[in-house]
Amino acid sequence: MSGTLHNCIAGNFQPARSGATVDNRSSVTGGILCTIPRSDETDVADAADAARAAREGEWSTWSAPQRADLLETVASVIESRLEEIAAIESRDTGKPFRLAATVDVPRAIANFRFFASAARQHHDGFHEMADAINYTLRRPIGTVGLITPWNLPLYLLSWKTAPALAMGNTIVAKPSEITPMSATVLAEILHEVGLPPGVFNLVHGLGHEAGQAIVEHPDIGAVSFTGGTSTGAIVGRTASERFKKVSLELGGKNATVVFDDCDMDKAVSGAIRAGFANQGQVCLCGSRLLVQEGIYDEFVAAFVEKAAAMKVGDPADPETSLGALISHSHREKVESFVTLAQEEGGTVETGGVRPELGEPLNAGAFLRPTVISGLSPSCRTATEEIFGPVVTVHSFKDEAEAVQITNGVQYGLAASVWTQNLGRAHRMAAALDVGMVWINTWLLRDLRVPFGGVKASGVGREGGHYSLEFFSEPKNVCIKF
Ligand code: NAD
Repeated sequence: MSGTLHNCIAGNFQPARSGATVDNRSSVTGGILCTIPRSDETDVADAADAARAAREGEWSTWSAPQRADLLETVASVIESRLEEIAAIESRDTGKPFRLAATVDVPRAIANFRFFASAARQHHDGFHEMADAINYTLRRPIGTVGLITPWNLPLYLLSWKTAPALAMGNTIVAKPSEITPMSATVLAEILHEVGLPPGVFNLVHGLGHEAGQAIVEHPDIGAVSFTGGTSTGAIVGRTASERFKKVSLELGGKNATVVFDDCDMDKAVSGAIRAGFANQGQVCLCGSRLLVQEGIYDEFVAAFVEKAAAMKVGDPADPETSLGALISHSHREKVESFVTLAQEEGGTVETGGVRPELGEPLNAGAFLRPTVISGLSPSCRTATEEIFGPVVTVHSFKDEAEAVQITNGVQYGLAASVWTQNLGRAHRMAAALDVGMVWINTWLLRDLRVPFGGVKASGVGREGGHYSLEFFSEPKNVCIKF
């Protein structure tokens, strides 16, 4: 896929009304991968009109099993094109092809299958009284806006699209302007498998233009947003003023908490994965590594050695652990935190530098996995989201101090705790101010469980019935005997 991408409105693939475009550049080569429409509020209005017409048309007659069958078909088509779509995702993001082929695309397939099954099995409330019965009808919201970030483009768009369709909504979606390609593939697939035109509309463009127009549009009744916390604040404010339902999945500064009774090898490997998966560009990444003082030196030495041995390079190489960051400007932002860390008294134990990869890869936005010690847990480097391959390490004395450091940031998305002591695991899980806690693992996902964060990490939960409920409205019916 390359060249000129189009919006998909009412089943038609078309440019922005204004004809304006935005270039999408590769973070590996620096070259232009494609151009996308620079859509504005007129394109969003067209998409919302198409979505309204579709929800009043044939789509409104589709039963839940029919919608589920369609989601199953989408999953099968993505599966049959797994390698091709993984290659597109890898080119668009700079992430290793192996990661896209083993995580991003399989997870998109799983999302469609999971919500197909959930749609078939969903049932709602019944409340009996002495002289009446109540039952709950669940109706689609109407048209929903889906706005997604660049780090897991297809994975996160499918995580919203599948439940929104399962519940019978129509959609206006906007992917990140810097990773537009897999969303375009998804629009094509949905079209090919027979989704009625206008049910899924894709509007490309910039966040403050096309994204803002989606949140503002009066006919778009709910907005499901995943992205940065500062953008989330704008989206939340704009949606609330219009009494729209809103789901916000935002940033994180997650702690990996390692106790001296952990299984050392598993904890080191787990902390490495948590720190550097997708170049540290996963909202759940464990960017703060807290190690109990008795094993601090030994653990950090093993962690630094493993980080230093990670292969950074060509995303197409199956041996590559870290590909390129999402863009050159993002790498500069991450590097500015490495500089800040040193100003704040930190020591770079490994990384902090661009790898020497030879031509043409030296033009790419690569950065070595970076471990920084010696920082106060309350300094900026250790409390602000960096969203890159940078982990700060800190020691702690006991459970109370581990809890205090973990909770001492504005974010509250996830944490992982490494201990063999069952009582301690439960105490820590209960005490941490986060939406998700992993014990002796990281990013192990069951799609039924609530996904989301507290504090500045978001509002609401996704997953299983949480998603189905977000994308629908309950209506109670009370019948008097
Ligand atoms: P971002 O907030 O810059 O952009 C996210 C999306 O919002 C993009 O599509 C963008 O175009 C759009 N947007 C920007 N301004 C907008 C506006 N005013 N109105 C409507 N839409 C607007 O985020 P990003 O840089 O693409 O992604 C990285 C961030 O996403 C990180 O903070 C990361 O932690 C977060 N994230 C969170 C989760 C989660 O589940 N909690 C998952 C992945 C990423």
